Order: sequence, then structure tokens, then C-alpha cells
Amino acid sequence: MLDQFNRTIDYLRISVTDRCNLRCVYCMPEEGVKLLRHEDILTFNEIAEFTRTAVKSGIKKIRITGGEPLVRRDIAVLVKMIADIPGIRDFSMTTNGVLLKEHAMGLKEAGLHRVNVSLDSVDKERFAAITRGGNVKDVIEGIDAAIIAGLTPVKINCVIKNSTQEKDAVEVTEFCHRKGLEIRYIRQMDLVNGHFFPVEGGEGGRCSSCNRLRLTANGKLKPCLFSDIEIDIRKKGYESAIQEAIQLKPECGVRNMTGSFYNIGG
Ligand code: SAM
Repeated sequence: MLDQFNRTIDYLRISVTDRCNLRCVYCMPEEGVKLLRHEDILTFNEIAEFTRTAVKSGIKKIRITGGEPLVRRDIAVLVKMIADIPGIRDFSMTTNGVLLKEHAMGLKEAGLHRVNVSLDSVDKERFAAITRGGNVKDVIEGIDAAIIAGLTPVKINCVIKNSTQEKDAVEVTEFCHRKGLEIRYIRQMDLVNGHFFPVEGGEGGRCSSCNRLRLTANGKLKPCLFSDIEIDIRKKGYESAIQEAIQLKPECGVRNMTGSFYNIGG
């Protein structure tokens, strides 16, 4: 479907939970966040039905994200429900990789095509500091499991402060080259203060070619990461919500006071 600015909207990112098993310093406060009420979180049936409607409206690319998608119970069941929808050309997940070792094979069997894994440092201490307690070994084993399972190409998301020449980023780049992984560098953003940057090596953050809609775990459809606009899909109805989101998608967002990376999913 074309929006007002002639952009073809064919990509839907679905956040399936606001929970996360890491506390990355730039993403979530150490004490965590006030979690959504269970009844506010979309059920698998609601997500699958919404996705079916979105695909009928022209969505061809789906990404599951979070919070951390692998902490949502029975996530492979949802993956299978979405994979069974005809018309999806690209079906991926963004994960921190901590639980990927145990999930990779099941996700592949359920029909997921590929994964992006977030990795900001390969140094044990630095990784633990950035994620406030994560173990980089779990993530590396998860990446290996994803490669073995065929969730390829495995892409790495690396958040940088300012430059790809920072020590952590250089080491992650070398790690990716050794393993034959694609890497994209995401400059640390501040949604509230309107500090946004295009993703280096990826497509995100380029408003003129943005093809995305985002669905939060509690059913808010957001046409732009950098804006407060959101439509409640339960109240509005799925088809109308999609049409309205496309209609309201701004040429370029300015700031986002109501959403954060952990509930929108990046
Ligand atoms: N838990 C999953 C993960 O870690 O990949 C998926 C959700 S996470 C919010 C999605 C992406 O957003 C990750 O690659 C993460 O590094 C990125 N992210 C989070 N906060 C960010 C910020 N302030 N600026 C830039 N990227 C951010």
C-alpha cells in the first residue's frame, strides 16, 4: 500500500512482549520497567489475525521483536502461526541471542527464515557492563546455533555511541568477519529528544524510504518510530487501524515521548 508520500508500506515489525532478560544501559533502567498487564498483551490469535489482515493489505515482510521475543512463552507456536500465512516473503526475528541456543532449531522448524542478533561487545566484562549482567558466551553460542539451524543470513546489530571505530565495535566487526556474518551499526538514539540516525549497513532510520509499521505488545500500531502517533488495533479494528496508520505516517518524525525501544522493539 502506498502512503501519502509515495512510499510502499510492506514491512511490519511486531513486538511480542515488553519483558527482557537483559538491561542494556541505553535501553532499559536497571530496575526494569512497569510491565504491561497480562490482559493488555495481544494473544497469539490476535497477533496472527492482525498479521493476516496486514498481509492482505500489502505487508510482505515481518519481523518479531520485543522486549526480548524469546522470553515470551511458546514463541515458536506464534512463529508457526505467522509462517503459515501465505504471502510473507521475509520472516525474521530480532533477539539478544541469550536464549537462542535452545530455541534456534525449533524456530527454524516453525518457519522462521532468519535472525538478527544484538551484540555490542565481544569482551566478557564489557558485554556484562553494557547489558548489566549478560554473558556474552550465551550469545555467541546462540549465534552458532542459529547458523547450524539455518536461520541465515544471521545479521548482527551493534549499537555504537558515535563511531564504528570504537573499540567494542571494531572487535564485533572482526568477530563478524571471522564468522562471515553481516553487521549493521545502530547509533545510540534518544527518542524523547529527537536524536535519530540512519542505521549503517541497514535500511532503518531513512525516512524518505521508510516502509515500516510497528505493532506493540499491547496492540498499538505505530506508523513511525520517531513520532507519538499510535492506533489501538483492538478499538479501531485491524483493517481500519492499518489504513489509518498508513494514512497518518509522517513524512519524517520529530520525537517520540510515549514509546521506547524496549516496548516498540527498535
Ligand atoms: N531484545 C531484542 C534485542 O536485543 O535485539 C529485541 C528488542 S531491542 C529493543 C531491538 C534493537 O534496538 C536492539 O538491536 C537494540 O540494541 C536496539 N536499541 C535499543 N535501545 C536503543 C537506543 N537507545 N538506540 C539505538 N538502538 C537501540
